[in-house]
Amino acid sequence: MNNYLPTGDNLAKRNDRLYSEWKCLFYNEARETLAHLLICPKLKIEWNEIKDATRRHTIELANTQNNSVIVPDQLDEFFPAVGDSELHSLPDPIKLMAMGIFPEFLKSNLQQMRFTTNIGPVCSELLDFTVKKFRDTIWKPRCDRNVEREKALGISKADKCTYTTTTSDNPRRPNVETDPSYYHTLLERWKSNHKHGIDAMNTYINRGYHGLNYGWATTRSHIHNWNKLFSQFKEGDKDDHTNTQE
Ligand SMILES: [Zn+2]
Repeated sequence: MNNYLPTGDNLAKRNDRLYSEWKCLFYNEARETLAHLLICPKLKIEWNEIKDATRRHTIELANTQNNSVIVPDQLDEFFPAVGDSELHSLPDPIKLMAMGIFPEFLKSNLQQMRFTTNIGPVCSELLDFTVKKFRDTIWKPRCDRNVEREKALGISKADKCTYTTTTSDNPRRPNVETDPSYYHTLLERWKSNHKHGIDAMNTYINRGYHGLNYGWATTRSHIHNWNKLFSQFKEGDKDDHTNTQE
């Protein structure tokens, strides 16, 4: 559902010639997909940074509430992964949050830290914070590197950033092969998806919503797509097919 980020695999859907073998900007060995960004061996430090920033932000939020909240000092103990990693490959909760998904079970983590009031708004704030932190820590550096790579490959920045309407005789059907605005279309979709995620979160909070199917704060149709996304993690870097999320 949130796989609209203009990663290489998504760009390839529109401009196959250019992006079909687009490699990770941090780790040139793997194809760039959203799933890969979550498991990229070169981004472990960045993911820890995102998680620790979220942990520290949780402390800040606790300080606005009451004095009895105890946020774990150890990163491993803060929003830990659930279940047995040998049996499944669910991503770390912080990675789901970075994609705009707030796993319902994290509410009980917050209760264990003795958050007693305003848990809903706290969840919403932490989700928003983590998404932004991901954008600053991983996505923006990724885009900087992407600009450099495209420069090196002779793909002009202007080609990508401007939507050229060169007296097309068929304006309704832009040239799919070279449509430079596609990147921005994907980015805008991702942004709006993030906004929808926050809106949905607030809706749940306002209704005092408690855990849908499987304990995920999401809808049945989303779960269908998430199963698709999770199946990618099992494949990891070996995965070479296009992961359509339509
Ligand atoms: Zn990588």
